[in-house]
Amino acid sequence: MPGDSTTSAPRDYQLMPTRLQERLDNGTTRCHLCLWRCKLGHGQRGFCQAHVNRHGTLYNLSYGILSSIEVGPIEDKPVRHFRPGTRVMSVGSYGCNFRCGGCHNLEISWGVTALDELARGQSRAAYAPPDELVAAALRQGVEGIAFTYSEPAVWLEYVLDVSRAARAAGLYTVYVSNSFVTDEALELMAPWVDVLCSDIKSLRDDFYREICPVATVDQVLGSIRKARALGIHVETRTNVIPGRNDRPEELRDIARWIHAHLGADSPWHITRFFPAYKLSHLPPTPEPLLWQARDAALAAGLQNVYVYADKGCDCARDNRPVEAYLAQDAARVHQVKKCSAGCCGEDGILLKKYERGG
Ligand code: SF4
Ligand code: SF4
Repeated sequence: MPGDSTTSAPRDYQLMPTRLQERLDNGTTRCHLCLWRCKLGHGQRGFCQAHVNRHGTLYNLSYGILSSIEVGPIEDKPVRHFRPGTRVMSVGSYGCNFRCGGCHNLEISWGVTALDELARGQSRAAYAPPDELVAAALRQGVEGIAFTYSEPAVWLEYVLDVSRAARAAGLYTVYVSNSFVTDEALELMAPWVDVLCSDIKSLRDDFYREICPVATVDQVLGSIRKARALGIHVETRTNVIPGRNDRPEELRDIARWIHAHLGADSPWHITRFFPAYKLSHLPPTPEPLLWQARDAALAAGLQNVYVYADKGCDCARDNRPVEAYLAQDAARVHQVKKCSAGCCGEDGILLKKYERGG
């Protein structure tokens, strides 16, 4: 069984043991945070780039590292059936276990440059221990904290510690995810995380394989069902991309799946695609398509279907600098983040096992 190593939160940046790891033979260790279940040798980093094996133990490079903070309505996540009318502080780090061609958040979500800098001990990214982040949320007068922008599954050590501190302070937490996560990770989260806002990107394996060669639809849907079975409030979202997942039958079938497995009253959020990165050549989703999908979902019996013609993914755009929210002075927030162990080679560069070209 994978070990769940728990440690107390450090005041200053350091690598933190990965919460779900399993030691294998010959110094290799498997990460069980997400369904990649990366098997890593010393010096190697997982697909997300945020976890590294050092001498047989896995560590998270990005614990407490913040790429963006923003304050706004919970409805912007989008979440509409949990504490409506309240405000959340959205926070993100670096790293994702998918590589979506239309991702708007590349510097943050993939965060390869930022994670390389952390691996080399050269990063000046912002760091805040969990209690400081919760204190920042309380100063903002929000009712909750949302983990978004990057994929929280690859940052779970920090997400858990912040969620515990948030609960103690009377704040709720929202986890915005692609749901390519393990049951073990969901079981760790369930006592502390209040809401899962999950993508259902498609019902086709070939769609998922293009953004993550090891992902299947059944895995993602299985994680969403598991989260609901564990008592987490679940809302789902589909970003409709022209020519990729916009066939009316596919969208209708997503609605039918939600109806059958999450319930007739389970909210479904339909967002509009805006061109980005490898999908810059595609047009924005024609608005009538979004409304047709909604009509089909209503006809399938779903009761709460929301269309966002002016909104795509939950991107970090035009946010204030992170230090504007933290009580530390900017020099401390951005001091160089050095790992104290220094055992990763002469250049301090940890390998990227799963890095792909292009
Ligand atoms: S992609 Fe990252 S979080 Fe997922 S199993 Fe690999 S190392 Fe762990
Ligand atoms: S769109 Fe979401 S799941 Fe896809 S790469 Fe970007 S952050 Fe990751």
